[in-house]
Amino acid sequence: MASVVSHAVAALAIGACFYQRGTPKRVWVIGALCSVIPDLDVIGFEFGIRYGDFWGHRGFTHSLLFAAVLASAVALLLFRQGVPGLGGFSLWSYFFLATASHGLLDAMTDGGLGVAFFSPFNNTRYFFPWRPIRVSPIGVSRFFTDRGLEVVKSELFWIWLPAALLLASSWLIRLRTARPA
Ligand SMILES: [Zn+2]
Repeated sequence: MASVVSHAVAALAIGACFYQRGTPKRVWVIGALCSVIPDLDVIGFEFGIRYGDFWGHRGFTHSLLFAAVLASAVALLLFRQGVPGLGGFSLWSYFFLATASHGLLDAMTDGGLGVAFFSPFNNTRYFFPWRPIRVSPIGVSRFFTDRGLEVVKSELFWIWLPAALLLASSWLIRLRTARPA
C-alpha cells in the first residue's frame, strides 16, 4: 500500500475535480474513506489468507469491480436522495474514482505483489511499468524507521504534489469560469 493518509489525499484531489458549491462536506469525507477501504484486506493476514489469494492483500478489494460495487453501495445507501450540486452519475463516478485510485497508486509502488485489477474474473496481479512510489510498510510500528522516511518522501513527491497541483488547477479553472474576463 501507499500509506492510508496519501490514499485519502489522492481521493480529496479527485474530489476537487467534482467540487460544486453547496455539495455537503460529507461527500468528500466519504470519498476519502472509500479510498482507504481496499486496505482492510490486510486483516486477512491475521487469518492465514496469503498475499496472492483472492481475498489476499491487493486482491479483490483493489479491483475495478470492487470500486464499482462500493461506489454503488455508498451512492444508494448514503445518498439515495441525491446531493445538491452533483448529479447521480457524477456522485457515483467520484466514489468509483476515489476507490479505484487506491489500486492505481498501489500499482505504482516498488514492492509487494501487484494489484488484481480484474478480479474476480482474473486474479493476475498487475503493476504499472513505472513504479516511482516506495512501498509503505504494513503496520504503524515499522513506519517510524529510515525506510518509513523514504516512503514519506516518495509519497509527498509522487502523490501529495500531484494532488496539490490537481487541486490548484481545478480551483483556477473554476475561478476563470466563475469570472470570465
Ligand atoms: Zn492497498
